[in-house]
Amino acid sequence: MKTVSNRKIEVAIIGYGGMGAWHGRLLKTVPCVEIVGAYDIKSDRVSLAQENGIFTFESLDALLADPRVDAVTVAVPNHLHEEVCIRAMEAGKNVICEKPVALNSLQLQNMIDTSKRCNVLFTVHQNRRWDEDFRTVKKLWDNETLGNIFRIESRVHGSRGIPGDWRNQKEFGGGMVLDWGVHLLDQILLLIDKPWQSVYAQLSYVTNENCDDGFTAHLQFADGPVVEVQVGTSNFVSLPRWYVLGENGTAVIDGFRTQGRIVMVSDWEKRDAVPVVTAAGLTKTMAPRTDDTIKEYPLPMVESDVREFYQNVAAVIWGEEKPLITHQQVMNVMKLMEAIFESARTNTVIQNMDI
Ligand code: NAD
Repeated sequence: MKTVSNRKIEVAIIGYGGMGAWHGRLLKTVPCVEIVGAYDIKSDRVSLAQENGIFTFESLDALLADPRVDAVTVAVPNHLHEEVCIRAMEAGKNVICEKPVALNSLQLQNMIDTSKRCNVLFTVHQNRRWDEDFRTVKKLWDNETLGNIFRIESRVHGSRGIPGDWRNQKEFGGGMVLDWGVHLLDQILLLIDKPWQSVYAQLSYVTNENCDDGFTAHLQFADGPVVEVQVGTSNFVSLPRWYVLGENGTAVIDGFRTQGRIVMVSDWEKRDAVPVVTAAGLTKTMAPRTDDTIKEYPLPMVESDVREFYQNVAAVIWGEEKPLITHQQVMNVMKLMEAIFESARTNTVIQNMDI
């Protein structure tokens, strides 16, 4: 019998690849969770799970039939999410699905309907809500540190193309919109907390003809900032992870942690500038400010603990909290990704028809 102090939810991992193993490591650090076991179709991944001290099930059916399993974490390739999650929910298991939750909104709706019919939790591991760089931008936004924010650029740049064996295949749910876009768009919708109005997007195919290896999406929000979200995998020089422009200052976050700075105007009235003289002309408009009219600040401190995700899952199962990552949020991101594909395909601006 589980008492309040020692109660735990028992979780099994389906798909013990790169991310499944990450969940295995994380789960060992979350007090209210116990790992029951894992299942993978590849023998080398099964052996690795066993070496890591994790029990392995013979089959998915065996895992789903085990009454100890309260919840499953589904970390198989993207095209299998719908099928595996629905099987698990129909077996009465609560489900944590890896991102991207599905390949399209029809699949997602099917999964949501199944969770309601089976009366189980169904949520998605949008773990990058706990990234420090995002938390820093959220703090700047919430505290209105920069004044009215009118532009946000959020990007990730790599230079190795699309890694792995299924991520570069469209039919397996490959491509960077689904892989990284899902994180960056989820962050933006959470931050701005209102529906996007329109989006214009372009996909890149530098290293891959089969599916997108990067994209740029321009988002417009009613009474909100213009947002540019960009993912690149052929970028040998990375641009900053975040570039946030407010009426009183600018923040730059260089990478995934919190290296960066804020530059704020200290004296609006001092507009005089020493002109920059180039080989072909001169400009005052684009001349850098002098130190007496601006001030530089460090980025604010933020705290983050991704274990909150599983703590919330446990609390939801016990009926004590609402899910941090909701069906509506996940659907909003999915529909935005669909609009991005449609915009790129038609080379047009797509309006949000749900508002
Ligand atoms: P991976 O290829 O390393 O692992 C996938 C594993 O699933 C493999 O071991 C494979 O053998 C196994 N598998 C395939 N079919 C299976 C089946 N029918 N039943 C059981 N196991 C099966 O891929 P990955 O990088 O671990 O990605 C897995 C999922 O995790 C993807 O949806 C991916 O988008 C997601 N992911 C999320 C994050 C994140 O930060 N949230 C990071 C990486 C990957």
